Amino acid sequence: MTETANRPLRFRRVLLKMSGEALMGEGEFGHDASVLRRLAAEVQAVHAHGVEQCLVIGGGNIVRGDTLAASQDIERANADYMGMLATVINALAVQSVLERLDLQTRVLSAIPMASVCEPYIRRRAIRHMEKGRIVLCAAGTGNPFFTTDTAAALRAAELGCDALLKGTKVDGVYSADPVKDPNALRYDRLTYHDVLARDLKVMDASAIALARDSAIPIIVFSLNRPGGLLEVLRGEGPHTMIGEDASEAKEAGS
Ligand code: UDP
Repeated sequence: MTETANRPLRFRRVLLKMSGEALMGEGEFGHDASVLRRLAAEVQAVHAHGVEQCLVIGGGNIVRGDTLAASQDIERANADYMGMLATVINALAVQSVLERLDLQTRVLSAIPMASVCEPYIRRRAIRHMEKGRIVLCAAGTGNPFFTTDTAAALRAAELGCDALLKGTKVDGVYSADPVKDPNALRYDRLTYHDVLARDLKVMDASAIALARDSAIPIIVFSLNRPGGLLEVLRGEGPHTMIGEDASEAKEAGS
């Protein structure tokens, strides 16, 4: 076993946030079975190390409230409720693939749906995690005009998570879009203030502010890198850490 493999994980309880679009793979809508399986394997690898996990999954692969409201005769609040229902669909899909790996899971919805899943109750969510169950927090915050990024920061704060892991298509926060700009630099570390003041597109400003107020570090990493989730929990692999310490904010390689 390598020295790296022995390195202890940095956190005891984490919240993993991913967008609904991450579940589409190369598709334009819905779910890609291979992506779901890969994601489940990432969660399983971390679970095997005894880290408690809570997942918040967006709904953008099915419905995005603002886009729907702008393009059709659907009022914004209704479109947002449709978006929240989409997150429940995604949570149920991910629950199934996790259970195929014999992981114990519970979906807790901010919009009560008694015949589908449990209602979100903070103490119950904590208890499930203490018992080793993966908790999927669905239906965002339960309120229109919010996003699942904000829901992720909110749940991370109230469930006592040690870190908010934001899984994306790229391996961190860049100075420009790395797909379009070959000179874009990835930041190793940033402060919450850097992200807000420079309007870096990481998460909504409200999510960043909520994480800052609860001193929860945000770690941005790539969901496409096999073993990437476990790696960042060891403090390794490419990622961007967003936290308090301004003196440590620097760009990768600097
Ligand atoms: N949404 C909402 N309130 C919440 C969370 C989500 O109204 O607390 C709605 C909103 O319409 C949003 C949609 O659900 O567009 C899907 O969530 P999000 O856009 O955050 O998903 P992602 O971009 O992460 O896939």
